[in-house]
Amino acid sequence: MDYGIDIWANNNFYIDNKKVKVNHKSSPSLVKITKEIRQRGIRGPILLRFPHLIEKQINLIYENFKNAKDEFGYRGSFNAVYPLKVNQYPNFVKNLVCIGEKYNYGLEAGSKAELLLAMAYSNEHSPITVNGFKDKEMISLGFIAKEMGHNITLTIEGLNELENIIKISKERFSCTPNIGLRIRLHSSGIGIWAKSGGINSKFGLTSTELIEAIEKFKESNLIENFKMIHFHIGSQISEIGPLKKALREAGNIYAQLKKMGAAALDSINLGGGLAVEYSQYKDEIKRNYTLREYANDVVYLLKDISTAKKVKEPNIYIESGRYIAASHAVLIAPVLELFSQEYTEEKLKLKDNNPPLVQELYELYDTINSAYAQEYLHDSIDHMNSLLTLFDLGYIDLIDRSNTEVLVNLIIKKAIALLKDRDSKELLQIQDMIQERYLINFSIFQSLPDFWGIAQNFPVMPLDRLDEKPTRSASIWDITCDSDGEISYNREQPLFLHELDVTKEDYFLGFFLVGAYQEVLGMKHNLFTHPSEATITIDESGYKIENILESQSILDIIEDLDYDIKELKEKLDKKIKKSKNIDEETKKHISKEIYLFLNDNGYLKTIN
Ligand SMILES: *Cc1c(COP(=O)(O)O)cnc(C)c1O
Repeated sequence: MDYGIDIWANNNFYIDNKKVKVNHKSSPSLVKITKEIRQRGIRGPILLRFPHLIEKQINLIYENFKNAKDEFGYRGSFNAVYPLKVNQYPNFVKNLVCIGEKYNYGLEAGSKAELLLAMAYSNEHSPITVNGFKDKEMISLGFIAKEMGHNITLTIEGLNELENIIKISKERFSCTPNIGLRIRLHSSGIGIWAKSGGINSKFGLTSTELIEAIEKFKESNLIENFKMIHFHIGSQISEIGPLKKALREAGNIYAQLKKMGAAALDSINLGGGLAVEYSQYKDEIKRNYTLREYANDVVYLLKDISTAKKVKEPNIYIESGRYIAASHAVLIAPVLELFSQEYTEEKLKLKDNNPPLVQELYELYDTINSAYAQEYLHDSIDHMNSLLTLFDLGYIDLIDRSNTEVLVNLIIKKAIALLKDRDSKELLQIQDMIQERYLINFSIFQSLPDFWGIAQNFPVMPLDRLDEKPTRSASIWDITCDSDGEISYNREQPLFLHELDVTKEDYFLGFFLVGAYQEVLGMKHNLFTHPSEATITIDESGYKIENILESQSILDIIEDLDYDIKELKEKLDKKIKKSKNIDEETKKHISKEIYLFLNDNGYLKTIN
């Protein structure tokens, strides 16, 4: 059982000696890293960041575009900016900026907060692009960035933003930032995010508005600042077709605008959208292109249009986020409990005189073997149905019914173990009946919000015991009190995990490709917050665990909701003082206990 690691892991992780290992230099196993962090007293879910995986993605993008440019003799430059909205966490962004320095890799901002982050952390002279809706203040902030020496482009989403730029350029006696126009394409992406492109999209200027914008640029002497056109047809573009269509459309708009007098216009920004393969199952593979194909198509098409229209080949900008960030983070969460352990042999309460069908069930259980496993299984399910009917009619009692449940469950488990090397459809169906519920110490709302919101699947697998065939069909429960906090067992995409005794052993699940969007979209449902995190750097001789940040304390979480912490503590203290059931000594003691709880994080503690 390899959990589809060849499909989604991109050679970043591999299985060796029963364990998932990081495929880099000294190749440590994830379980070793996890245990070492836990030895430092950290419990609950842990997010591991791997900077070498950020570097790998950045290198891949530049390499592939360089190759494409060389192959087609493309004369425009290639530039990339990272859209901050995908992950703004400092231990990601700072690594990214540092790694990107040699490429002059830039940042994209979509809000005032992100723009200020970009102004503070971007590498000197690297490009900053600004998208999204902007008020006068945000546009002024763009001017300030330019005055500070940043290479900044404000992309206009509507004509009113242009009016504001014109106004501000007259008010401020200094240089004006580069201006970009977001174009509204009639072609759009596909999939859940397609709304970002297309004629009904929330963003961009129509052809009529583009013509108007060019006139306004000329009137206000800003035509020299108009440098870029931009489009973004949506995230996670699974097929290359729509992108090619959008490129042809954008390429022709570029050529037209240049002919209409946009002399300084020299760049096309393709936005993001490069897809990540999240599937663990061959039948569910979504992405139908490689990065090489993407780069070749972009460069070839833009070259082709420029040649045909006799305009200078545009500089290419891309704003890929998901592709850069997704793989760098792995969420590791411990299993807390299994929810069908009551079905062990010790739970049987057989009587001296059992109803005949119960007795027969017991004999099936006792004598089942691989030759007859399937047949016995069918018989036992038949018997169970008859016995349940007998219970409804009042012929057998609760103890008989419990014995039935336990026996059938035990028979199914035995049968699965006996049949596990045969790939029968029926076996899969039987698995449905005896799903094991694995309670995992994490919150789906906090750590996999896209699973909750848009049914995005993330690859999941145990970190250890990968030499043993997992026999339990698993559904995953998180620790929130919400029935949506569940990844249920799905016959089409079955997840199997190992049998285990949580009182005796640790068992960790890894959720992969969680580095894009999940962290900042995460919700504090039930007041579970961002998991503890650590950055892992690996070299030839070993690895280093750095920047360990423990999950927020309960006190901080409550303070974030704008409770007055002093008041909260006073209220608790008062209640302790007033309580009549306990003596002074106990009062002091529980005060201390509460203090410890408030300063600890809210995730559960495993026994081990
Ligand atoms: C969200 C966004 C991106 C990033 O998209 P990915 O699919 O994550 O690469 C890029 N540009 C703009 C304008 C965006 O809104």
